[in-house]
Amino acid sequence: MKKNAYLGIDIGGTNIKIAAVEPSGRVLTRGIIETPAGKGPTAAFDRIRRAVPTLFGDQWRVAAAGVGCAGLVDSRKGRLLTSPNLPAWNQTPLRRIAVKALGVQTYVENDANAAAYGEYKCGAGEGYENVICITLGTGVGGGIVSGGKLLKGASDFAGEIGHMSISVEGPLCKCGNRGCLEAYIGKNALVRSAREKLKFKKGKVLGNLSERGKRELTPRMIFQAARQGDRVAKEVLNEAADYLGSALASLVNIFNPEIIAIGGGISGAFDLMKPRIEKKVRSRAFDAPAAMVRITKAVLGNDASTVGAALIAKESAK
Ligand SMILES: [Zn+2]
Repeated sequence: MKKNAYLGIDIGGTNIKIAAVEPSGRVLTRGIIETPAGKGPTAAFDRIRRAVPTLFGDQWRVAAAGVGCAGLVDSRKGRLLTSPNLPAWNQTPLRRIAVKALGVQTYVENDANAAAYGEYKCGAGEGYENVICITLGTGVGGGIVSGGKLLKGASDFAGEIGHMSISVEGPLCKCGNRGCLEAYIGKNALVRSAREKLKFKKGKVLGNLSERGKRELTPRMIFQAARQGDRVAKEVLNEAADYLGSALASLVNIFNPEIIAIGGGISGAFDLMKPRIEKKVRSRAFDAPAAMVRITKAVLGNDASTVGAALIAKESAK
């Protein structure tokens, strides 16, 4: 007889990650398919359906599916409301389309919330009940688990940590607000900051890596240069650590978490930023919650949202 496993799906603007996940959260197999961004979700779930037999093999059956999707997701109605990177998918009944294609119960959630749930259940937050997970990349995503429950708010929009305004007159964010955390420490903000600094300051290693502006700067170049002691790169990361630390201090005061897990591509420089982030949190948050919180790197990497979505499906299907 086939054993139960869960299909975890993470829908991003470029790729869709899929995984067969055991009830324990262990990933059995994973795959990646291109997002048919312009064609809408029906075409996407058709591709996912065709990938399922390879993913699950002869021994496992799909007990339920969980979808983490970038954008504003109404998980109760199973609808994707808006997604900045998937405009053709706006206002679509994701769950209904998924159920029709896959033939199993399906649950949808925002991707960052799904990733936070994955880290909480079987990643950096395992064994804790109060966990905040922040994903640093082009966007800054967040998810909050409080008292063992994913914090959803009145209409599912809770946890948008990247759009917490940390400065009244700060730079304009793509969400329309000013001074959002994302506008300071998102990928584009880091690259812009490095580029500006290189105009006025010496950053020999970083300058060489970008061939004096001929190659486009990337966060990876900034990390590499910082590791080699480049002044500009270190300054960029120090500033990012200060912004993040200040934002985390507020989160510590509001949510009193045991663990804050930092994931996503930018977290490749977490070890360089950690001392400064911790210092900011300890100096700005109230002593008692600041003393107990651990700030750590997320451990599930690219699996966080598929595992989280699969485990949300498992819990919801009970
Ligand atoms: Zn914003």
